Amino acid sequence: VAAGVLRVAILSTGEELLRGAIADTNAQFLARTLRRAGGVAIEIRQVGDGREEIARAAGELARRCDLLVVTGGLGPTADDRTREALADAAGVGLKEDAAAAAGVAAFFRRLGREPSPSNRQQAFVPEGARVVPNPIGSAPGFELAIGPARAVALPGVPAEMKAMVNATLLPGLSAEPGALAQEERLLQVAGLAESVVGERIDAWLRRTEPPLVSVTVSAGHLTVAVTDRGDAEGRSRLAAAASELRRLLGAHVFAEGETTLAQHVVTRLRARGETVALAESCTGGLVGAALTDVPGSSQVFLEGCVTYSEAAKIRALNVPAALLAAHGAVSEEVARGMADGVRRRAGATWGVAVTGVAGPDGGSAAAPVGCVHLARAGANGVEHVRKQFPGDRGLVRAFAVTAALDLLRRGLD
Ligand code: ATP
Ligand code: MG
Repeated sequence: VAAGVLRVAILSTGEELLRGAIADTNAQFLARTLRRAGGVAIEIRQVGDGREEIARAAGELARRCDLLVVTGGLGPTADDRTREALADAAGVGLKEDAAAAAGVAAFFRRLGREPSPSNRQQAFVPEGARVVPNPIGSAPGFELAIGPARAVALPGVPAEMKAMVNATLLPGLSAEPGALAQEERLLQVAGLAESVVGERIDAWLRRTEPPLVSVTVSAGHLTVAVTDRGDAEGRSRLAAAASELRRLLGAHVFAEGETTLAQHVVTRLRARGETVALAESCTGGLVGAALTDVPGSSQVFLEGCVTYSEAAKIRALNVPAALLAAHGAVSEEVARGMADGVRRRAGATWGVAVTGVAGPDGGSAAAPVGCVHLARAGANGVEHVRKQFPGDRGLVRAFAVTAALDLLRRGLD
């Protein structure tokens, strides 16, 4: 981290983290959100519920950062010890805070309930601390100085933590010394293997100076993120980087910003006034689930047939029995027949079909495990692709969903 930049440390507390029972999504949100606002995470640490371990970790981190964000352990129960622990780290005691008491009382009034004595404990904060109101839960947060660092304690419940970050932590952050707001541009990519993306934008991925480029991958869908400073100079570098990356990745970039492939497909279909129907075999309805996840998909998605058996492919989609007998259910010919059949059946602009071998059993020489045939039927005929995906059953199916949506979107862009 460059000198002068606002250094952030994140301390997640809770035995459930150490047991491996939950993922630390709070730290993920904080690192990402605070980075956009101008802070750079130098360390993310997880500890259990113990007062001493929280106090020790907070004390150590506070020596090395400007802003320490602690989540969890603010509830009313005996295993919620973050108040005491941070008071220990700051070398102060606890005191009852009038604003916190009013917040707790107001929360229970809204629920029409009486606070218990343990809820009243939640009105205690370290001496010298300032209360951070909790707009949706009972536990207020607080902030105080631990050595040279500003420490902020927030509840573990993700929705409460996020609401408080947005309402209280972010607004003042850009005014902190060293805060350098970051701007991010996202390019959404489908239809290219991660290794190929890596080769095409290799020089960008190696950069150590802004604009910085990184790639995240999820079953055939890649997100290329470019970040730079949020000032005029940073923004103009970002714009130049984004357009060069778009050029390198070509038509595989399907959208910019926080957009999923399913959202993009629904948007494009709506804009074109077109509809789609699905014939799914190995994905068992997952493509339809992805489409119906998008609000407004009812305007464009007519129906999906989960035709798992050969009999269903014949009966529901009119795939000729002879075709199935000659080529097998996982074949180019059958994928084409399914796409065409579902398009006619539904009277849709587009018919999209998926048939494959998700494994772990059922592979053959012609169609080994991971082999998926996809087809898209439209007014100008039927397009087909054959894919060979790596991974277990879940991953093959997830890849197939992305490939099906990508095949459709290539007919729309
Ligand atoms: P509560 O008043 O609910 O007790 P709290 O501040 O004491 O709030 P915790 O008890 O530590 O917070 O956590 C409450 C819930 O929030 C946990 O059951 C867990 O599901 C979730 N949670 C806690 N920490 C995290 C984290 N780091 N990432 C994601 N979820 C978390
Ligand atoms: Mg708790």
